[in-house]
Amino acid sequence: MSKIVVVGGGAAGLELVTRLGRQLKRSKDHEVILVEPSSHHYWKPRLHEIAAGTFDRELDAVSYFQHAACNGYRYIQASMTGLDRQGKTLHLRDTHAQFSELNYDYLVMATGAGSNDFNTPGVSEHCLFMDSASQAQLAWQHLDPLLRANSSRRIVIVGAGATGVELAGELARVSQRLRRYSQAAKPEIILIEAAPRILPAGPEKLSERVRRDLLKQGVDVRVRTRIQRAEAGCLFTAEGERIGADQQIWAAGIKCAEWLTRLDGLETNHLNQLKVTATLQTLQDPDIFVLGDAAECPQPDGSFVPPRAQAASQAASHLASQLKRRLKGRELQPFVFHDGGMVISIGHNLAVGALANNRLILRGRLVRTLYNTIFRLHQQVLFGWTRVTALILLKRLKCTLNPHYRGL
Ligand SMILES: Cc1cc2nc3c(=O)[nH]c(=O)nc-3n(C[C@H](O)[C@H](O)[C@H](O)COP(=O)(O)OP(=O)(O)OC[C@H]3O[C@@H](n4cnc5c(N)ncnc54)[C@H](O)[C@@H]3O)c2cc1C
Repeated sequence: MSKIVVVGGGAAGLELVTRLGRQLKRSKDHEVILVEPSSHHYWKPRLHEIAAGTFDRELDAVSYFQHAACNGYRYIQASMTGLDRQGKTLHLRDTHAQFSELNYDYLVMATGAGSNDFNTPGVSEHCLFMDSASQAQLAWQHLDPLLRANSSRRIVIVGAGATGVELAGELARVSQRLRRYSQAAKPEIILIEAAPRILPAGPEKLSERVRRDLLKQGVDVRVRTRIQRAEAGCLFTAEGERIGADQQIWAAGIKCAEWLTRLDGLETNHLNQLKVTATLQTLQDPDIFVLGDAAECPQPDGSFVPPRAQAASQAASHLASQLKRRLKGRELQPFVFHDGGMVISIGHNLAVGALANNRLILRGRLVRTLYNTIFRLHQQVLFGWTRVTALILLKRLKCTLNPHYRGL
């Protein structure tokens, strides 16, 4: 029997085990195992909605236990802590801090990445982060009273990539709603970016369009501003400016966890991403694959696959078919990322997208529907269209009965 162990049940890992589990569930020769410390899956591009109190846990979170039982893979609730390549063994720590070992024939690392504090002093102690559902939930507990306060409070978000921009837009929208229904004052939302423009990884026209929309919503967008130090209740820029804040959130850059650099000789880069070949195999061990944000995967044009949800999903689909080839002893094909464009949500009913090779910049409710569709496509892989259609209908119904904001 061959055992495929996937570590990390995020955008990439969960889609991979779903595909593999369904395809191999009748085979007695193969076992698919997911190792993941959380009990529920939350699609990461929606974490800003948890932080802003607009995420629907009942409908949009996935229980790993239930999903595994229905889709032909085994779920182990634990964190990977180490690796012995010679013995093909993983070291695990479960939720009760008990240690154990797990053998594998093929290992897939899909442990994602968090934000990067670039070793800026004070950031880890004095800023909130948005790297997991529990961090986003904590952010909401801090942000909710600020959004409801009847005197203006200041929220500072550092990093204007997709995370920072979407959070700023969602908070501005929620505050607008709250002010309609209560005596809440308008909070001051400041979005800070070190690069010359927001969304530096996206096309320039998209950045400009989103910037204009954020300004319209009252968000104070500051570019070319590098934070050098954080203290309780304030941030200091490289130019020496002190920016006071009632809450500061760090959403800049990406970096993988430090423990990936100690995986029995597997090579990593400066962001702690594991280096892989175009077939997603590590440079040192062809039985270990990496995908999603944790991988530094080369592309034919010399660039690397970007750390984005659509890249994670495409890599999962590719690897599902390649692992089957591998099990049959056939040669592996390289993974090539096809960029389908970028869609950024700015408040719950508006989005801006760069499509058709960035030639088309579109904005509005229709683009917001497209943004939602990207999430629905992820759910479609996990559940199939029948259940996704039911989820869409249920959500519509709930929206007509309940307020959109969790705190109302
Ligand atoms: C707020 C936010 C907004 C975003 N918006 C967008 C967007 O609009 N568009 C876009 O393309 N991308 C966006 N992204 C990026 C996108 O979410 C990631 O590129 C994508 O989730 C990467 O998928 P992944 O599977 O590699 O990692 P993840 O989805 O992060 O999953 C990693 C999984 O590994 C698990 N794990 C971690 N450590 C261990 C361990 N030691 N043992 C076992 N399991 C472990 C984690 O619990 C997690 O479930 C956003 C990210 C954030 C945070």
